[in-house]
Amino acid sequence: MTREELDALIANPPPLYQHRLIPSEKGDHMRDECGVFAVFGHEEAARLTYLGLYALQHRGQEGAGIVCAHHGELTAHRGVGLVSDVFKPHKLARVKGDVGIGHVRYSTFGTSNLRNVQPLVADYARGSVAVAHNGNLVNASVLREQLEEMGAIFQSTTDTEVIIHRISRSQGADFTESVIDSLSGLMGAYSVVVMNGEEIVAARDPLGFRPLWLGELDGAYIVASETCALDIIDADYVREIEPGEVITLNRDGMRSQKPFPPVVPKQCIFEFIYVSRPDSDIFGRPVDEVRKAFGAALATQAPVDADIVMAVPDSSNPAALGYSHASGIPFDMGIIRNHYVGRTFIEPEQGIRDFGVKIKLNPSRSAIEGKRIVLVDDSIVRGTTARKIIKMLRRNGAKEIHFRVSSPEIINSCFYGIDTSNPSKLIAHNMNAEEIRGFLGVDSLSYLSIENMLAATKCNPDHFCLGCFTSKYPTPTPHDFLPSRNNHRHVDHSMEVYAQ
Ligand code: AMP
Repeated sequence: MTREELDALIANPPPLYQHRLIPSEKGDHMRDECGVFAVFGHEEAARLTYLGLYALQHRGQEGAGIVCAHHGELTAHRGVGLVSDVFKPHKLARVKGDVGIGHVRYSTFGTSNLRNVQPLVADYARGSVAVAHNGNLVNASVLREQLEEMGAIFQSTTDTEVIIHRISRSQGADFTESVIDSLSGLMGAYSVVVMNGEEIVAARDPLGFRPLWLGELDGAYIVASETCALDIIDADYVREIEPGEVITLNRDGMRSQKPFPPVVPKQCIFEFIYVSRPDSDIFGRPVDEVRKAFGAALATQAPVDADIVMAVPDSSNPAALGYSHASGIPFDMGIIRNHYVGRTFIEPEQGIRDFGVKIKLNPSRSAIEGKRIVLVDDSIVRGTTARKIIKMLRRNGAKEIHFRVSSPEIINSCFYGIDTSNPSKLIAHNMNAEEIRGFLGVDSLSYLSIENMLAATKCNPDHFCLGCFTSKYPTPTPHDFLPSRNNHRHVDHSMEVYAQ
């Protein structure tokens, strides 16, 4: 694609993009979400951010960071690992100020990489700037290439760094204008918090892929990916930041604007299915209620005679409860989850069958033996979890297993932050439902239909991105922006650039 064609595409994107299948080199590692948090005007900004990140830990476990401003000067602490590993009391105490932002990150490809942990911080002509970003940009590689051609040196391999470089080059009259300038060239998903020494700018991309909330505590403003992070610090909910909205928080208060051309939102329905915590409200609806409605819809769509309904814990618990309530079949805890699993463990040398799943999930034989089971999971991605769990249930005497999935078949990649990098690894990309049923070894299998899923959200059905279920994307995909240069370094960063 020529630069002119690219500019034209950015200026005038067609309404929906049909994704061309180009398997990437990234392997089959599941990518996940990130979480962002910000505090403006509270003397305990660092501690509040720490707690907020704690509540958002499910959105990313690979790295965490906090940046605070004290008298206009930024101090940061970032590290690889869980929030509780990265922030020990003495480290947190060093991050001072009443303005701060934080980030939990999931990536990763290969080794843990500290330089990719956010918030990213940089100094430029007008002072210091820090950015925390949730979501993936589809045109990051081409923007990066343009910046590098102009002499920019990148510190990380994340797409977020282009935001900083574009801020530093902006001629905007003030900080907010520079941030808007930077964001206006981006395509894809961003729920972002950006700060300098004096103010915070929080923004959601025009399509609103990822959630972002505004809260208030003791007169201070709080921004968080999900409401569960407002709850943990007892902050009041103000409202959701709207798709395309840019909010400035400074000593004069709060200012909102919508600087981008309006478009129909395309929020990520996978936030409802799996990503967000059930005790959060996103996209105007309680996640728990929506997940239960998915389960209830599945019970109506795919009923079956059975003794118990079981969840693959924990993310599927609400959907399984919904199925149970709607069908009248009792819910039981047939699989127990170990909540204390760390991220690394030493496996016995002899090897144990299904060790990877067993370390986290173990069947409760008395609940399973001789039973006809409805097993509910929120999604099947590669099918590996389901296959192992089903084998465990069979070994524990399950009489029948009817697998019910509270989302449709995932047939293609997500480019906006839930990145199943290689579509060929997605089981529903390669097999039809009957083949998947055989592969998993269940008596019956049903997925929630797209129509029933959308109806169960009680939201405007046009306001969701369904790319992973339909292969129709609301923006160009990264494949439309393949970098023109073909050197090794570029190949390298393209493998990580989408892993926010
Ligand atoms: P798989 O084993 O690859 O089929 O993954 C499906 C399982 O992973 C289900 O139990 C889901 O609850 C869970 N899951 C779904 N999406 C994600 C994700 N983005 N990251 C991690 N786990 C996920």
